[in-house]
Amino acid sequence: MALAPRWIEDPLTGLEAELTVVQPYQAHKWYRCPGCNGDIAPGTGHLVVVPTDANDLRRHWHRSCLDWELRHGHRRRHRRT
Ligand SMILES: [Zn+2]
Repeated sequence: MALAPRWIEDPLTGLEAELTVVQPYQAHKWYRCPGCNGDIAPGTGHLVVVPTDANDLRRHWHRSCLDWELRHGHRRRHRRT
C-alpha cells in the first residue's frame, strides 16, 4: 500500500513541494538524508521532496526524519501561506 503524493512545505527551502514515496524496489542508489545526515541505502523505502518550482532541489529523506521535520520544523518558522 502506497501513500498518495501530497503537497507539503519543504523543510529545507520553505517552498511548496510534492512529497512522493520511493518503494524499496525503486531505490537503486545511495542517498544522503538531510534530516540526520545519514545514508539511505539502496533497497530502502524512503521519501522524496520535490519543490514545485525547483526540481533540482529535490532531496531524499528517511521517512521518520521527514516526519519529525514536518512536525517540529514548523515551530522554528513563523510562516503564513
Ligand atoms: Zn535521516
